[in-house]
Amino acid sequence: MRLTIHRGSREIGGSCVELAASTGGRILLDLGMPLVQPDGSDWPRGTATRPTEELLQEGILPDIPGLYGDTNPQVSAVVLSHAHLDHYGLSHHVHPDIPVWGSAGTLAVLWASEVFLPDVKAPTLVREFPSGEQVDIGGFMVTALPVDHAAPDSRALLVEADGQAVLYSGDLRAHGHAGHLFDDLLDNPPTADVLLLEGTVVGQAPGSHGYPREADVEREFTELLGSHSGLVVVVASGQNVDRVVSLYRAAQKTGRELIIDPYQAYVLRALAGLSSGLPQFDWPGIRVKFFHRQVARLKETDQFPLACRMSRAAKVTTEQLVAQPERFVLAARSSIPTVNLLNRLHEPSRTAVVWSLWKGYWSRPNPLRSFCETHGIDPLFIHTGGHASQEDLQRLAAAVAPRAVVPIHTQHAARFDDLFSRVMQVPDGAPVEISEFVASG
Ligand SMILES: [Zn+2]
Repeated sequence: MRLTIHRGSREIGGSCVELAASTGGRILLDLGMPLVQPDGSDWPRGTATRPTEELLQEGILPDIPGLYGDTNPQVSAVVLSHAHLDHYGLSHHVHPDIPVWGSAGTLAVLWASEVFLPDVKAPTLVREFPSGEQVDIGGFMVTALPVDHAAPDSRALLVEADGQAVLYSGDLRAHGHAGHLFDDLLDNPPTADVLLLEGTVVGQAPGSHGYPREADVEREFTELLGSHSGLVVVVASGQNVDRVVSLYRAAQKTGRELIIDPYQAYVLRALAGLSSGLPQFDWPGIRVKFFHRQVARLKETDQFPLACRMSRAAKVTTEQLVAQPERFVLAARSSIPTVNLLNRLHEPSRTAVVWSLWKGYWSRPNPLRSFCETHGIDPLFIHTGGHASQEDLQRLAAAVAPRAVVPIHTQHAARFDDLFSRVMQVPDGAPVEISEFVASG
């Protein structure tokens, strides 16, 4: 096989890896949107959905022959590791005849995101991994191994062809509610010549991604919900279902009702088949606060009956929230509608605000931060990251024991040399024959 990292060998996000077999078959692993522009600033809204030709000219789409809508398709498939934009965010640009593969959870999040989030478009032709089986994708035998990550139903991808095997870690960790999947991987490591290993936390200060484990987050939520006398607002990603589970359990233990928005309710419902433990809008202790724009999106996508069902089962009014804020915990986005709602409280300054996202995002201007500054509220940071610690990455590499470890999804690829044995640096855009570095490694 020939390996080309089109993007991602020296940055976190925008991952795109190509494997080519001796038969001429080619597949891609992930086709992500870079997290930030080359100068470090955010992308203007709408960038990912601009015309393919423009994004190619500007280098936002990697220049890959036979991949996009304007050429004869020469790539067998795009295989997605998980539903984070920096891994799938450009996949709708591929030729409509090229299938995009993902797990059931990945595809569910893609479709839910297309309904509610700007800049998200699902690819035209999608295929779901058969559960637990190896699948032949264009002559490559692909096994999608379940891993623990902040995106639901994430996978590491084992790709075999030409008598060689590449294991692409995708994004993964050992410390979420599904951390046992990491242990499973260590107990039954796949045989791989090359391990393409994510290194998000490599070279970063310990603790910069919050608490060590999701269980710590749940414990902190429980303590706060049990001790605070006003409303608690928790800003988190609606797609981080571990976090919703932690929050729901904490609410149940402390006698509060968890208020979610229609977007959150929709995502949970789309993922209900994955786990019986994901709270749903018609469960006891779950309430739904309706926001105009989200209801409008359900109407526009012919799903108004669903909004009506949510309303009948769980609707909470602003008046109910204002009357007894201490009865509730609100899972929210940092948005103007959230702040407008909080400003309806008689004493907004008695609200506990929890930032349950990466702390670095707090430093950017956002509506909840303005709310805190206006009312003299000190935010609480209760979060754990989606990525394995250096020690866990070392344990994984030792268990797989590949002939070569190739850094990806990292800002500190050079640090891999200190952490792992048999590291091979493969810069963006430079094809390498796996047989060559298997021989040298
Ligand atoms: Zn991710």
